[in-house]
Amino acid sequence: MFETLQAQPADKILALVQMYREDPREMKIDLGVGVYKDATGLTPVMRAVKTAERQLWETQDSKVYTGLAGDPAFGDALVDLVLGDAVSRDTVAAAATPGGTGAVRQAFEMIQMARPDARVFVSDPTWPNHLSILNYLGMEIVPYRYFDAETRGVDFNGLIEDLKTARAGDVVLFHGCCHNPTGANLNPTEWDAVIDVLLQTGATPMIDIAYQGFGDGLDEDAAATRKLAAAVPECLIAASCSKNFGIYRERTGILMAVSADTLATGLNQSTLAFLNRQNFSFPPDHGARVVTMILKDDALRADWQAELEEVRTGMLGLRTQLAGELQRLSGSDRFGFLAQHRGMFSRLGTTPELVEKLRKDHAIYMVGDSRMNIAGLNPQTVPVLAQAIIDAGI
Ligand code: PLP
Repeated sequence: MFETLQAQPADKILALVQMYREDPREMKIDLGVGVYKDATGLTPVMRAVKTAERQLWETQDSKVYTGLAGDPAFGDALVDLVLGDAVSRDTVAAAATPGGTGAVRQAFEMIQMARPDARVFVSDPTWPNHLSILNYLGMEIVPYRYFDAETRGVDFNGLIEDLKTARAGDVVLFHGCCHNPTGANLNPTEWDAVIDVLLQTGATPMIDIAYQGFGDGLDEDAAATRKLAAAVPECLIAASCSKNFGIYRERTGILMAVSADTLATGLNQSTLAFLNRQNFSFPPDHGARVVTMILKDDALRADWQAELEEVRTGMLGLRTQLAGELQRLSGSDRFGFLAQHRGMFSRLGTTPELVEKLRKDHAIYMVGDSRMNIAGLNPQTVPVLAQAIIDAGI
């Protein structure tokens, strides 16, 4: 029977990883795959994670099933980390999921269950997996303008104009911080205007927050999500622990549904548990438990925050260095956006041909849409990249 299946398109980023591995050139730079790397090119296990795992190994005496929504303590810890005291805890339903991707998937399914004809507005561009999952589920996608190809910032007027066409029963998907793939983000005043439009149209926001702590700080990166959740009657939040805890393969994420009243919270909570049951029953526990231990223990939390802050400021330093090198080499400020962008990614804003040229002539690997993983750089490779960008005529 399976001969009826059609070959699926290869993952472009994974194909790029393979090409990079096979490239024999000594000086080569991988800015492709979206994982954090330190200056030595390693994606380290964070100190607090190691300590918590050791403690867990010593103290855990059963691996019996948790609840369908995962360990409630994980839900409490993550609601606190993401939402702070923006909304009352009893208005938030939460369920652990396999990574942020699992949360995104469950969120889309919940939307589809509630409103089979909902349209989902997504930024143009967005994380490709958003589109691929929405397409897989057969949901209607409406792109909204986001990236300004000229300034490499947000096309704010275009965005507002497009969001005004949403209506009640539609969902608008936002990146809570550190937009992937562009690195361009709304400022607080712009978020306020977005909230006004959502309140006018009645559309429901969904926030995907996968990089909390990678941009301006843990609280700063959650500020838009918190403001939004407090202002609108309902929203969905898909959060990932993959990046900020460096536990990519543990598949640790959470879906939160914030509602106006506690009656709705009960309905949302049972829906989240139901959806988990249909798709995988119990969510993975190891990463969630480690995260909970870190967040609940003052010393572990302080150590985690300190290491996360090193990661964040390290990436900011690379951004500043790169923008500075390019200013020096080009004699202009046209690359200043690299220092303004936040998170792991920046969209250089050049053509696929020039991206290809960087790969062929300079062994610099980035995604075809010119998304660069800033964490793929180190202080020694920044000048090499800057020179290559200028040499390629970008
Ligand atoms: N959302 C966005 C925008 C992302 O970039 C990612 C990871 O690349 C995720 C969600 C989910 O990541 P994970 O499923 O690894 O937690």
